[in-house]
Amino acid sequence: MRNLRSLGSRLMPSGSLIFISGPSGVGKSTVCLRLSRELPAEFALSATTRKPKAQDQHGKRYEFVDEAEFRRRIDQNDFLEYANVFGNWYGTLRRPVEEALAAGRMVLLEIDVHGGRQVATAFPEALGVFILPPSLDELRRRLEHRGRDEPEVINRRLDEAQREIEFARSFNAYRCMVVNENLDQTVNDIRAFISRVRSHDTPIKP
Ligand code: 5GP
Repeated sequence: MRNLRSLGSRLMPSGSLIFISGPSGVGKSTVCLRLSRELPAEFALSATTRKPKAQDQHGKRYEFVDEAEFRRRIDQNDFLEYANVFGNWYGTLRRPVEEALAAGRMVLLEIDVHGGRQVATAFPEALGVFILPPSLDELRRRLEHRGRDEPEVINRRLDEAQREIEFARSFNAYRCMVVNENLDQTVNDIRAFISRVRSHDTPIKP
């Protein structure tokens, strides 16, 4: 039997809640998309104050809300975790995660390191994965190649990347640190880590 811990009022098998963090440009979204299909795991729904982009579908990954609504949801304890990322608020909605876990589905959170720390503290059975770039030079190359940001924004993202990596290493939230050199390898390494953890689950003591 799996080791069940409570998430709010629900029970959660160890290794069912996975949170993934890593600097901007490291390839996190692509890795998460592959994992969600292959595990399979469902993405958690977040609320955010950032403006929707053309490719965003409201209610799919994000609910787009204004700051007053975000604060109301904080007060109502609607979030599993929340943080300010690059000037916008993001928070994982608690209820859909609880429902998915209670139904035995795996849930994937793609969140920043501050959110990661909150999840790790509140739910020690959640699995943290941090994705590292092969080097900062390579991260710069990927950000430049992506073509989304001006040079000064790229410089800021690189400074932020160094802070995030130091922050992620400064506490034990991330049990898996993986260098994203090659997409297939990274996805396979994370899947292997998750299966290892799930198969080593300890039974509940009566
Ligand atoms: P984007 O605006 O590009 O969709 O997301 C930017 C970053 O915000 C993501 O890379 C991720 O690290 C972070 N993020 C997205 N959703 C959440 C959330 O619900 N909570 C936290 N803490 N961070 C999030």
